Amino acid sequence: MRIETPPVEKPHGRPEGARRGLVIVHTGDGKGKSTAAFGLALRAFGRRHVHGRQVEIFQFMKVPSARFGEHRAFEQLGLPIHGLGDGFSWKSRDLEHSAQLAREGWARARAAILDGAHFLVVLDEITYPLVYGWLPLQEVLQTLRERPKDVHVCLTGRRCPSELIELADTVTEMRLVKHAFKAGVPAQRGIED
Ligand code: ATP
Ligand code: MG
Repeated sequence: MRIETPPVEKPHGRPEGARRGLVIVHTGDGKGKSTAAFGLALRAFGRRHVHGRQVEIFQFMKVPSARFGEHRAFEQLGLPIHGLGDGFSWKSRDLEHSAQLAREGWARARAAILDGAHFLVVLDEITYPLVYGWLPLQEVLQTLRERPKDVHVCLTGRRCPSELIELADTVTEMRLVKHAFKAGVPAQRGIED
């Protein structure tokens, strides 16, 4: 390992723009897209006394009854998190029903983005209904463009459409370097769910 001298200059200059809501995207094939979005929600929720507005999470691929660690923890905190899906997977048969749920869920999430009462809205795994054609991409882009200017929106999921990446302010790609699953290690309670 090479020993380096710590930096003495600031890595970023002083920003000149006004403060405003951000569109934040977490995409890529590595682990951490949803958990980073939950971390962001937690941080925003911790500052609710400063901004005085709501933080809300919508999950497009989880069922309403999901009881993962994040659902249990957020319930204790009073941070709303909603599963909007039907547990769609490659085993799912009724794709029309999954598409219908995605559209109904989007209507709720869209209302939250536009209502002026929210500080941060998380759209977890929204890229999948977009890629499957269940949600109209143009409408999602339009909603992000016309939202109140102080609303932050975080969108997650693999294969993020390029138009969404273009519109976003902050985009992070979780790159797969290794995943334990590939070495045959099963999903771990409290780490994966
Ligand atoms: P997490 O919810 O842990 O932040 P994620 O949102 O980045 O993960 P998804 O694509 O939504 O990843 O997949 C969710 C589940 O799949 C998680 O249990 C995660 O550990 C697992 N997973 C993520 N990346 C991989 C991978 N490259 N190979 C196998 N499983 C993965
Ligand atoms: Mg995820």
